[in-house]
Amino acid sequence: MKLSSKIFLAVYIPTIVIVITIVSILIHSNFIGELQLESDKNVQEFKTVLENIDANISEDATHYSLITYYQNHYAAKGIYFEYYEDGEFVFDSGSETFDNRDLLNVEDDMYNVIVEEHSSNHYMFISYKIGEDVLVYKTDVEILFINHQQEINIAVMLIIILSLVLIVIALAIAKFVTIPLNAMTKEMDKISNKDYNIKLKEGNDEIGVVAKKFNEMSKKIEENEKELLKYIESKQMFIDNLAHEMNTPLTSIKGYAEALEKFDLSEEKKVKYLTYIQSESDRILDMYKKLLFLSYKSNVDFEVEDVSINKVMNIIKDDLKERLDDHKSKLIIDNKCNEFKGDEIMFIMAISNLIKNALNNSDKGTNVYVNTYEKKDKLYIEVVDEGIGISKENISKILEPFYRVDKNRSRKNGGAGLGLSLVLRIMELHKGELKIESEEGKGSKFILIFNKD
Ligand code: ADP
Repeated sequence: MKLSSKIFLAVYIPTIVIVITIVSILIHSNFIGELQLESDKNVQEFKTVLENIDANISEDATHYSLITYYQNHYAAKGIYFEYYEDGEFVFDSGSETFDNRDLLNVEDDMYNVIVEEHSSNHYMFISYKIGEDVLVYKTDVEILFINHQQEINIAVMLIIILSLVLIVIALAIAKFVTIPLNAMTKEMDKISNKDYNIKLKEGNDEIGVVAKKFNEMSKKIEENEKELLKYIESKQMFIDNLAHEMNTPLTSIKGYAEALEKFDLSEEKKVKYLTYIQSESDRILDMYKKLLFLSYKSNVDFEVEDVSINKVMNIIKDDLKERLDDHKSKLIIDNKCNEFKGDEIMFIMAISNLIKNALNNSDKGTNVYVNTYEKKDKLYIEVVDEGIGISKENISKILEPFYRVDKNRSRKNGGAGLGLSLVLRIMELHKGELKIESEEGKGSKFILIFNKD
């Protein structure tokens, strides 16, 4: 059943039932009241009759004879009598005799009132005991029933009119309530067609609040969808880049391997080709390791331990010794805050990636600086170089996987644009931050910021 029909029935049925019940009770109690009044009035009249008779009673004038004597006088007023002697009917002043036995069950000094229908007419009978005899007073009360019927007819008419008015009101209420809901349904259809431009009329009532929530929800869905699209796009870009990055070294390896197999090469060339194959394989291996680390979706479980930067730097120095010598560079360390908390291997990975980047992007003979210090509730590790620097535009991009400012330069150094993504990931795992400050032609500063706790 439609909501509008439900609302209509919910308004119409209870209202009409309540109206009919109230009107019925009112008409009925009014009728009972009228009957009571009529009964009181006639009992009073009957008492007057009896007083008159009592006043004239004598040896010769019995109740019975006096009633027969006055019958015409009372008949003119619409009052008739029946007389019963020892339970037997003996006299009736009306045209019709009803011989109602119930009337005879009357106690001394009491008035027994009965209303009955005879020949489509309603009569009121009042019986009173006179010695062993019973005198019955009767009068036509049909007018009360006619009035009552008229009241019922008027009430039915009024209820029919009210019912029609109520139908109109209930329909209007149902429409009024369902209009915003129908509008909402229409707007919802828009969402399934990816149209999020939804502006439902907001308000303070329940429907207004739902509309507000709905507007907010559609905005959220739009944002989420945009985010999802961005995510899908970046994933696709990641896969495209990965395919591209894998293709170059694999093609080289295949080419050199084929050449080694097919051609009769000099020893010198063989060694050269094998060195190429080795370095390309190292590139793939390095990429594989970085990708593996980056691909962990949730937090990598690691034990937080005290990390000594002195120890970390000694390991890195040993690792990069050859590279530093080739580059004729010095690694100058200013360690003012030796104790860090985290994972030692990740510290080595992050700092050595930053130092390798510093060397790759600066001229031979320039130095690289590593400074650690403490400020307020933070601990800092800076890797500073005197290299080519990074433009403002590129600073925001170099953290994306596979992004390189100068592809040739990066490739020559075995990079695939994953180093900084890896550093960023390590900082995320340590709930820290990575900041980059750089000036083109002057150098760059990569700052790792950790919370003390
Ligand atoms: P890559 O393997 O190419 O070094 P990274 O993610 O480590 O990948 O770095 C991304 C790019 O950021 C590099 O290709 C380089 O262009 C730029 N970059 C990184 N570090 C520096 C730096 N110290 N100075 C100038 N450019 C840098």
